[in-house]
Amino acid sequence: VSIAVAKETAAGEKRVAMVPKVAAKLTKMDVALTVAKGAGEASRIPDESYEEPVVLSGRADEIYSANVVLAVNAPEIKQIEKMKKGSVLVSFVQGHNNPDVVDALVKNNVTCFAMELIPRISRAQSMDALSSQANAAGYKAALIAANALERFLPMLTTAAGTIRPAKVLVIGAGVAGLQAIATAGRLGAKVYGYDVRTETKEQVESLGAEFLVAEGVKAEAEGGYARELTDEEKAKQQQMLADNMADADAVITTAAVPGRPAPKIVSKAMVERMKPGAVLVDLAASGGGNCELTQPDEIVTHGSVTIHGPSNMPSLLAEHASEMYAQNLFNFLQLIVVEEEGQDDVKPGDKKHKLDFDWDDEILAKAVLTHDGKLVNESVRTALG
Ligand code: NAD
Repeated sequence: VSIAVAKETAAGEKRVAMVPKVAAKLTKMDVALTVAKGAGEASRIPDESYEEPVVLSGRADEIYSANVVLAVNAPEIKQIEKMKKGSVLVSFVQGHNNPDVVDALVKNNVTCFAMELIPRISRAQSMDALSSQANAAGYKAALIAANALERFLPMLTTAAGTIRPAKVLVIGAGVAGLQAIATAGRLGAKVYGYDVRTETKEQVESLGAEFLVAEGVKAEAEGGYARELTDEEKAKQQQMLADNMADADAVITTAAVPGRPAPKIVSKAMVERMKPGAVLVDLAASGGGNCELTQPDEIVTHGSVTIHGPSNMPSLLAEHASEMYAQNLFNFLQLIVVEEEGQDDVKPGDKKHKLDFDWDDEILAKAVLTHDGKLVNESVRTALG
């Protein structure tokens, strides 16, 4: 089985799909691994650190003609067109927003497993790249807030007087929000968390933060995700949040509803009630933002409040985000690069591997986006109409 690692081309993307440590584990299997020259550069991984038998290649046709192509983001159309019929792509795709990519995958008969479609079940946790990358994003969001504030986060008792701890409010307590809560808490802030899924209360509290409640707003939907709120629910939520934002030093928003634009939670009027010098970090910037003033990849100053909306947070932590993503891919590959039969008496290192898809495996069945010249994921098919 030949596996190749693409060099990312999206603007601002610093991650790479495979790091040397994980590549070394992969080549212990019977696979030929090729890494695009310079693929790791932006994550501070020089070509030389990929050790033999990894091969480096500066030729796109060599990379894209592998049996399996690994990437962080879906490759450009012209690269997908270089892929062999029946070959495999494993990367984030966000098919509902990228009809042209989906179309190219279908036309070129590529079997694409989209990392965002890996189901959120226990057995798939080690492959859950949405979670690993959200962890990186949440951590960095807390640091951006801390850095942008001209205040301490912790309480300080000094000879020059006592400093009160900063108040940090985290809206959306999924994977990223919980990591932001934990990180701000470790820096000593007084942290408050809010989510429409009330089951997150316990998780927020277990991190030492206080859970905020908007009376009568409960929005759990299937699969542990949130649903969109009704207008009445939204009004109740806004009021409670506006009151809490008014005395927060930093607000971090992470709210998302899968397959939908980011819910607009923070209005201009709510920002105008914030304290002078307060900071808002909007993790939902790439999905349109949770705050109506957010501009992706810009720092917006409104009055004396600054609103930060980096659209690719995990990329700001490229080294570790890449390492975690590579490990997620390695774990996923174990499901499709399998030992050939009849090798019971062969030493583990000498076993031959082949590409094989067990469609009875829930993880493969749910993660597959395109196969056999068809768009097979139902929700992306519905979204693209
Ligand atoms: P996400 O990125 O889709 O959303 C982030 C958070 O925003 C969610 O907690 C959501 O409830 C919240 N949200 C949505 N609309 C909101 C609104 N209007 N106001 C406030 N908050 C709002 O979610 P995620 O972090 O990827 O995952 C969500 C949950 O999925 C996890 O917390 C967990 O329960 C579950 N999950 C399970 C597994 C597993 O079992 N393997 C793995 C990862 C996640």
